[in-house]
Amino acid sequence: MPDLRIGYGWDSHEFAPNTPLWLGGVQLDSPLGLAGHSDGDVLLHALCDALLGGLALGDIGAFFPPGDPQWRGAASSLFVRHALDLVHQQGWDVVNIDATLILEKPRLQPLRDRLRQNVAEILKVGIERVSIKGKTPEGMGTGNAAIAHVTALLAKRA
Ligand code: MG
Repeated sequence: MPDLRIGYGWDSHEFAPNTPLWLGGVQLDSPLGLAGHSDGDVLLHALCDALLGGLALGDIGAFFPPGDPQWRGAASSLFVRHALDLVHQQGWDVVNIDATLILEKPRLQPLRDRLRQNVAEILKVGIERVSIKGKTPEGMGTGNAAIAHVTALLAKRA
């Protein structure tokens, strides 16, 4: 039995006008973007927490405090790369990730493979190891926000 760890991350950001929409490290064409101290990429923030959580290293806010001016407008792929470096340094690899994005618009289906490809490149794994599923927030009253849940499985390198 290989040494395995599972990590879980969750994040939400509110939609705002005159803000670029970043999801999975991809800038998407949308009238609304996600507000945040960094680029508001809810999917990458949840992914970062899943990677850190798998090794009990804390959370994204501990490494990249939201009040710190150096992270204003930062690309969230930088946060994930840092978390991934920590995972690799400790001798672990990412087996797969499974993400659910809950948002009203844009519809995820036509964008899904672009996002999967980009997240796979950030994680340096094959696209078949990156699952991104879209849900609409029916009856949740969260049409003005995007929510992401991500689980990540890590395996100790042999
Ligand atoms: Mg966030």
